[in-house]
Amino acid sequence: MVVWGARGTLPFAPDDPSQFGARTCCVSIEAEGRMLVFDAGTGIVDLGNRIMASDQREIDLFLGHAHYDHVIGLPYFAPFYHPGCRIRIHAGHMQDGRSCRELLADFLRPPFHPVGLEKFKADIDYVTFRPGDLLRPGPGIEITTHELHHPNGAVAYRVVSAGRSMVYATDHEHRPGKRDAALEGFLSGADVLVFDTTFTDAEMQTYAGYGHSSYEEGVRLATYAGIEHLVLFHHSHKRRDSDLAQILREMQALRPGVVAGRPGLEIMLSALRREAEA
Ligand SMILES: [Zn+2]
Ligand SMILES: [Zn+2]
Repeated sequence: MVVWGARGTLPFAPDDPSQFGARTCCVSIEAEGRMLVFDAGTGIVDLGNRIMASDQREIDLFLGHAHYDHVIGLPYFAPFYHPGCRIRIHAGHMQDGRSCRELLADFLRPPFHPVGLEKFKADIDYVTFRPGDLLRPGPGIEITTHELHHPNGAVAYRVVSAGRSMVYATDHEHRPGKRDAALEGFLSGADVLVFDTTFTDAEMQTYAGYGHSSYEEGVRLATYAGIEHLVLFHHSHKRRDSDLAQILREMQALRPGVVAGRPGLEIMLSALRREAEA
């Protein structure tokens, strides 16, 4: 699993350069010969260039939702413009009955963008699903989905392949002081959790209704769901490197397996040792 962008809301970091990066949400996993991509923030641009420099032409893109920080890199994903690429784009957060294709056609159009989907040269399938659906992008890969609590909707994905699992769950507001049995069940026993940690617990009251969670909630969820590896994600564009480094140290004191998402962070899922095997 590789993180290509971990900033949320805006591709901006107060420190420039920033050790945590300014690129927005994008994470990839290679499984069973396919490239699985989660969200299309500005991080997807670098990933697209790497894909075109490789032999990989089978790509599945899963959108958590369509706020700008999660789709702004989409028109600059190089594989869309290559006829040899076969790409499926999946979206399931829509609460207004729109299809995945309608959603993207609405985003990629003048005057917001000079050209539309008709410029894509790859063989593209637009897949519309509903939260809770099971997706099977290819043999040996199962992806379960779960609805998150976020303005205009958002979906979390749990990828299971070769006995390993990763959950991508960003843009979710937890209810302070309340446990979420459905989400804990969805996450339970995953090897890695990438989670929306935009705020601190202390900030949650100020930002009630913004649709995001806290660092501490990420640690609590990882503890309740038995997840060793937690990736702090969707860093606030207001957070300086020194603040993020301090928060990371505090979270690692609570739970040693915590890391901070940043472009270039790589976790070898197949190399993770699990308790059952220890
Ligand atoms: Zn976001
Ligand atoms: Zn959002």
